[in-house]
Amino acid sequence: MAVSEEQDFVKQITKMSVDFDKWYTDVVRKAELADYAPIAGTMVLRPLGTATWDAIRRAFDDLIAETGHENWIFPLLIPEDVFMKEAEHVQGFAPEVAWVTRGGKEDLAVPLVVRPTSETIIGTIVRKYIQSHRDLPLLTNQWANVVRWEMRTRLFLRSREFYWQEGHTFHATAAEAESEVLQILDDYREIAEDWLAVPVIPGRKTEVEKFAGAEFTTSIEGMMRDGLALQMGTSHYFGQNFSSAYDIGFTNRENRRELCYTTSWGISWRLIGGLVMAHGDDSGLVMPPRIAPVQAAIVPIFRDEAGREAVSRFLAPITAALKGRVRHRVDWRDNRPGDKYAHWEVRGVPFRVEAGPRDVEAGQVVVVDRLSREKRQVPAASLADWLVDELNAYHATLFERARKFHTEHTAHPQTKQEFRDFFENGNGFAWAAFCDRTECELELKDQLGGVTARNKPFRVEGGFPDRCVWCEQPATTVAVFARAY
Ligand SMILES: [Zn+2]
Repeated sequence: MAVSEEQDFVKQITKMSVDFDKWYTDVVRKAELADYAPIAGTMVLRPLGTATWDAIRRAFDDLIAETGHENWIFPLLIPEDVFMKEAEHVQGFAPEVAWVTRGGKEDLAVPLVVRPTSETIIGTIVRKYIQSHRDLPLLTNQWANVVRWEMRTRLFLRSREFYWQEGHTFHATAAEAESEVLQILDDYREIAEDWLAVPVIPGRKTEVEKFAGAEFTTSIEGMMRDGLALQMGTSHYFGQNFSSAYDIGFTNRENRRELCYTTSWGISWRLIGGLVMAHGDDSGLVMPPRIAPVQAAIVPIFRDEAGREAVSRFLAPITAALKGRVRHRVDWRDNRPGDKYAHWEVRGVPFRVEAGPRDVEAGQVVVVDRLSREKRQVPAASLADWLVDELNAYHATLFERARKFHTEHTAHPQTKQEFRDFFENGNGFAWAAFCDRTECELELKDQLGGVTARNKPFRVEGGFPDRCVWCEQPATTVAVFARAY
């Protein structure tokens, strides 16, 4: 990151078609979602970003509470010996772990890991709360920050410190734990589609892409407007790998000791990067209405103090009716109306409501939506009902637009040549027959500039050839391939 990039405030948004990466960074900064922090590879979440993250958090907390999950707060620091017990996990995370080696002036006898993820410490802690099968399932979740020493960072998508939720669950049977993994993945799909308006593909990861220490990993994958994939959530099944490394056992119904079956799953603030890249345009952010911190920005228009008072009296019953139904903000700042419109537009507020002297006289307001920019006159008395309906319609339109883009940038190559052509000429998702061999996946990744199997979708429609699209050995599955963030 250049110093000038850090210090210069973004003046204008680069066009998406000119430079997608620069466009993305411009939107994130100009909309005041987040910014670079003075510590390399870290970022600061500004109030709009924080409110958006809180909205996602509320939606997900409600979903998992329905199925009996409870929030905990676990420690940030993990002793080295605790962290080191599960070999595959250590191997996967060691290269990006940050260490604490000194406390005050003392060198620590046992260095501490700043959690990159918390399987090891949570397992160590909860095993004392699990005695018998009656204590199961134990369904924990925490909202926390973690640290991974990434070398290449990018606002929201990859930063050395990031916020997420991590769920960790403990079960008496493999079947129950596996069904937990899928239940959560479906909750993630619901967050992506019903809240963020981003259509996603749920499926199972290949061996190359699975989580370190997992028996299997599932994911949801969304398509960004440059055709790249974004992994928007993952849910892992560990079998007894962690419970055997950390000795997390219980007494079963037959009074015999058995090891738990465990899962873990997470979504992070990269979802915010995802909604920027899935919906944004050259004017900035387009906020999905259900998580938008401000759903309607009201801009009063007046020339003098008398006008200000008249419009204020006019707006009082309107904002009272909106209270508790539509998240709104009345923009009384001293700026010109045009500047205020730009302010709310770049932040992607779904509806802008204008109220000027003529509107006051006619008992109506002018509403402009962020997607169509169409101006509509709405009677002041029915604005709240109108907005509630229109916010739902807006969500549906946004989702449909993203779905259409996703479909238009999806191919079904039948041959290696078609597959090659697709990725040599651009980006998107390619559904193809696959042998599911690591060797084959690594070879095509290398030859096609980073194309990977994003996952093996749970739902596959239509027929596929019986040979792998790349190596022509027998296909055992269908995978969706893409370049990814
Ligand atoms: Zn193959």
